[in-house]
Amino acid sequence: MSALHPTPVPPAASSPRDMLGRPLHDLRLSVIEACNFRCPYCMPAERVPDDYGFDAASRLSFGEIETLVRGFVRIGVSKLRLTGGEPLLRKHLPQLVRRLTAIEGLADIALTTNGSLLASQAQALREAGLGRITISLDALDPVLFRAMTGGRGEIADVLGGIEAARRAGFDSIKLNCVVQRGVNEDQALPLVEHFRGSGIVLRFIEYMDVGTCNGWRREGVVPSAELHARIHARWPLRSLQPQYRGEVASRYAFVDGGGEIGFISSVTAPFCGDCHRARVSADGALYTCLFSGEGTPLRPLLAQGDAAVADHVAALWSARVDRYSELRTEAGSSRKKVEMFLVGG
Ligand code: SAM
Ligand code: SF4
Ligand code: SF4
Repeated sequence: MSALHPTPVPPAASSPRDMLGRPLHDLRLSVIEACNFRCPYCMPAERVPDDYGFDAASRLSFGEIETLVRGFVRIGVSKLRLTGGEPLLRKHLPQLVRRLTAIEGLADIALTTNGSLLASQAQALREAGLGRITISLDALDPVLFRAMTGGRGEIADVLGGIEAARRAGFDSIKLNCVVQRGVNEDQALPLVEHFRGSGIVLRFIEYMDVGTCNGWRREGVVPSAELHARIHARWPLRSLQPQYRGEVASRYAFVDGGGEIGFISSVTAPFCGDCHRARVSADGALYTCLFSGEGTPLRPLLAQGDAAVADHVAALWSARVDRYSELRTEAGSSRKKVEMFLVGG
């Protein structure tokens, strides 16, 4: 079914290291900046109008995306995640996935989605060769879920999307839950209870000061250690070894065999030292950190082919010094930063 090459091709000799010695392994590519939700921590409705979005011509075409990805693979990227905005709003996404699966050296293509449109697309995405899906899910309670999507989302649609993904044969499904103090922290245990034993891996993410419009305050963060303690008290956990260097989630197994969960602790335990990710927005700008102020446009290079992209990105990566989360201060968190819905997390 998938044309992906199971063994990653070793990075080219020219695979760059940044100023802190970090190689480039992963690419997160936003295929669209628009979203059908308005999660207040990402794209608050009062700050981002309903009709927000570039005109379609401003987005990279599928041909341009293919060239771009080939360029990144030339310098060592073997993992690609398609994201957004809401990537399932991008028309004909399965066609893009099919084109990308043909790229030699790309070992893994994953998707992050809010899941609301997944029920009707899961089968086509699987057939196109998509390997893994991550679905964002912050609450099981229908009223709270609706509020956490800015009044746009229905939990039943997302649960239906998860089921459809399973039926389509996705055997690696993860759920991302961003936990905010006093907002949805009471959903953590019900979520664990619901998905324990299902084979689906739930990961709790600390609320981050991404972008400039979510009004982040440190008091809104529920530290992973606190959540871990609450879950461990109910269902004992044991820690698991990382599967690879740079894995962002700390993984735990339920002692009783109920599967695994993860914690992504970008605020309380930053992992910049192992950050091997680049991000590209839907209009083709490169961001070397989730908290970058400015992106570097790559679109003008695409007509010159993937080798030109590779050279240019290698030069930019070699100059990279980003480690925002390790240096985070209250004052710094109000400086200009790219919005999460532009670079997709
Ligand atoms: N729309 C898709 C979705 O929600 O899954 C993909 C893009 S969304 C920007 C990617 C991820 O970023 C989601 O899991 C979302 O919960 C997470 N996210 C957005 N804002 C965040 C914040 N302030 N702190 C932590 N995670 C955030
Ligand atoms: Fe949309 Fe995802 Fe941001 Fe929510 S987190 S507003 S679903 S892009
Ligand atoms: Fe990577 Fe920037 Fe996040 Fe640090 S803050 S882990 S450098 S994206």
